[in-house]
Amino acid sequence: RESQIEEIRATIETKHVELLHMQFVDIEGTLKHVTITSEQLDQAVNGQVMFDGSSITGFTPINQSDLYLTPDLSTFAVLPWTEEEGYSEARFLCSVKKPDGSDFLGDPRNVLKETVKRAEEKGYSINVGPELEFFLFETDDAGQPTLKTQDVGGYFEPSPKDNGEKVRLAIYKVLKEMGFTIEASHHEVAIGQHEINFKYADALGAADAATTYKWVVKTVAGQHGLHATFMPKPLAGANGSGMHTNISLFDIEKQENAFYDDTDELGLSETAYQFIAGLIDNVKDFVAVTNPLVNSYKRLVPGYEAPCYIAWSASNRSALIRIPATRGAGTRVEIRCPDPSANPYFAFAVVASAGLDGIERELTAPPAVNDDIFSMTRKECFERGISNLPTNLESALDHFEAGTIGRNTLGEHAYSEYIELKRGEWDDFRTTVSDWEVAAYQAKF
Ligand code: ADP
Ligand code: MG
Ligand code: MG
Ligand code: MG
Ligand code: MG
Repeated sequence: RESQIEEIRATIETKHVELLHMQFVDIEGTLKHVTITSEQLDQAVNGQVMFDGSSITGFTPINQSDLYLTPDLSTFAVLPWTEEEGYSEARFLCSVKKPDGSDFLGDPRNVLKETVKRAEEKGYSINVGPELEFFLFETDDAGQPTLKTQDVGGYFEPSPKDNGEKVRLAIYKVLKEMGFTIEASHHEVAIGQHEINFKYADALGAADAATTYKWVVKTVAGQHGLHATFMPKPLAGANGSGMHTNISLFDIEKQENAFYDDTDELGLSETAYQFIAGLIDNVKDFVAVTNPLVNSYKRLVPGYEAPCYIAWSASNRSALIRIPATRGAGTRVEIRCPDPSANPYFAFAVVASAGLDGIERELTAPPAVNDDIFSMTRKECFERGISNLPTNLESALDHFEAGTIGRNTLGEHAYSEYIELKRGEWDDFRTTVSDWEVAAYQAKF
């Protein structure tokens, strides 16, 4: 730890870091920070930076508002876009503590750490590789986002005429400078839609990376006069943006991927099948977390590569859970419902706990579905035991409250704050008269 601090001090010196942003996220996963000068590094690493928790969504009431930030030293990064001659800024991602020094359990990073601990007690570490898709839109004269995309590309298309390609390259460079290992970068299916893939990490590292990625994408896009959005379905009739979550367990004692078994027909271990079974058994109860917005459910409809039926497959991209072809160290489960508006800390925590629940209860996975589910009739789905994901936020919240995975994973504080926030969002939506209703009913009735 001392040598880590020394290294940070040296970087502050050579890069002329003047300001340090102490970052954390609220219960929606929105990045927050308080900024201090680099002279206060010592106080910062000693956990002495205080903030008002009552101003943060889902944190503390006004009468217990003092909270403290403890920086995670491994997240120190100089911000490439702030660098100029003799000046730069850096950031830390922090965990939140109460005045008595204990972890504040309303902090999403602390929530995920609890899940990581539970997995470790069973002998596993959790690896996660999220794929976050986003749209780039033009802004208007007042700087507000429009729904106009300016690119002309399609899936995997190089498009010399479009600015999207240029912005994606600029984002890639910044991410790389900040320490990301980039695996791929490509245009997605919809117009104006992109994805940049980075290498998987342990669950906390992956959630930190997802949070940083969203911030960098928005920041760099803004510098190019574009608005980047992680809204799940900005354009009706086009593919929405997902956050496919690749996840695997690593056996700490054997030092190997716990999902791989070369003696099995599909190369999957008993543990992997139980994990899949746990996901299938619990998914309805956790989509309120992985798909948190009213708008999220407009993505989960047939015909746009997003899942809406609860099934798994070794190949099928219409299934909720796909097992990518790689085996050995890369053996993993890809769950395709999460979208990038989710709080990544909560999302990875519920997905991991759902899988671990399957292992604890030794659940049996249903048979794989290798046919195109989108082309099945309702009757066929029913006969094969394939049910639907919740079709709106209210239904998802009903499941979230009736089930146990949410409460057990998020903990009482975050769980009840989350429900209150999301029920309010649904009420707001439900009591709004939409353009669709006026168009459909005003003239006719
Ligand atoms: P797709 O074919 O679905 O588009 P991508 O190549 O975009 O997949 O993303 C795959 C993700 O899975 C990457 O982030 C990669 O690092 C990650 N990954 C690879 N191996 C593992 C593993 N063992 N556990 C978890 N994630 C992994
Ligand atoms: Mg991908
Ligand atoms: Mg994709
Ligand atoms: Mg892909
Ligand atoms: Mg994918």
